Amino acid sequence: MKIGFNDYTRGAALATELVNTSPLVREAGEVLADPGALRDFLSEHGVDGGEPGTDDLEEVLSLRSRLRDILETEDEDETAEAANALVARAGVGPALHRDGDGRWRWYVGTVPEAPLADRLAVLAGTGLLGVLDVLGHGRFRHCASSSCEGVFVDTSRAGRRRYCTPSLCGNRLNVANHRARRSPGRP
Ligand SMILES: [Zn+2]
Repeated sequence: MKIGFNDYTRGAALATELVNTSPLVREAGEVLADPGALRDFLSEHGVDGGEPGTDDLEEVLSLRSRLRDILETEDEDETAEAANALVARAGVGPALHRDGDGRWRWYVGTVPEAPLADRLAVLAGTGLLGVLDVLGHGRFRHCASSSCEGVFVDTSRAGRRRYCTPSLCGNRLNVANHRARRSPGRP
């Protein structure tokens, strides 16, 4: 796996979306309920995960909880240290290669035969470090919906993202319905 230093959005998006597959965030329950669900998640994110097994799933779920800790901590040095540790799990380089347009770019690679969870750790860790460096720690946030436990990394240009999953949490009606479902007065 070859990960561009400049392209931190991909790794940051993967980290955000992986964290928010958890039953802690998703009312419908665990998104990554079996290796097939993990395979679908990875293909949606353009990661070649082959055919993940139950061991891969277990390691990815463990990475997910690590990522949640990193996205939640308010200590920015801790964020850097933890994300550096993710890259160190299987990262090699950096190395300079030409990109698709022939321009020189810095890349981090992964060691051959690295397990899936380690490759994802390098991808997510590189993305988080890029955000910390370029955009700052203020981009690591909790979802603004009071009924959502989601966390996210805002890589938007304007930096005004408020929700972990804008299509769900950003929809006022959904949020209102969610609150109504959770209210104690509901039969
Ligand atoms: Zn949310």
